[in-house]
Parts: sequence; C-alpha cells; structure tokens
Amino acid sequence: MSIETELEAYRALLAERRAELLALADTSSGSRRPVELDQSRVGRLSRMDAMQDQAMALETARRREVELRRIDAALKRIDEGEYGYCLTCGEEIAEKRLKLDPATPVCIDCAR
Ligand SMILES: [Zn+2]
Repeated sequence: MSIETELEAYRALLAERRAELLALADTSSGSRRPVELDQSRVGRLSRMDAMQDQAMALETARRREVELRRIDAALKRIDEGEYGYCLTCGEEIAEKRLKLDPATPVCIDCAR
C-alpha cells in the first residue's frame, strides 16, 4: 500500500470516528441540562440519582470533547504531512499502534 493510500485510510477511520462522536453528542445533549425534579421522581434519593446521572453525562461529554480534539489534531497532522510521527520524540509511530488508535499523537515509548 502506498503512503498516500495509507494516509487516506487513516483519514477515513478518523473521519468516521469523528462523525460517530458528533452523533453521540447530539443525541445526549438533553442530559446536560440542569437537574430538574419531575413529579414522578420525588425525594432526596431520586434527586441524588438525577445528579449522579448528570455528573456521569458531563464526564462522558468531557471525554468525547477530548477525543474529538485528538482526532482533529490527527487530521491536521495528515494535512500537514506529519501524521504517524511521534509528537514527543519525532520517531515513526508503529503501524500496529496507529491501527489501534489512529488519533494517537505519541509513540509507545513516549506514551509510557
Ligand atoms: Zn516518541
């Protein structure tokens, strides 16, 4: 496989993952609204449940944001011809590692 074909394959993977994350963010945005008590969930425990649910939703949303930024950065590196090189040491990132996580910015040694 030529370098160009390989890069396009990674670009496709990243774009697909990006679209998935954005779709997820859309469907779950409702859970990020402030906690409200509806009539069917009265009492201190259900309120705590609701707040815990919201905290989890916020954490999930935060992780999605981080992942989106990693993906955007990886796509930018593809455009700039720097994709596949470790941001820390400049060595090539192992293909196996990129296949596993196409958005990874560092090689296995620097990730440790
Ligand atoms: Zn490295």
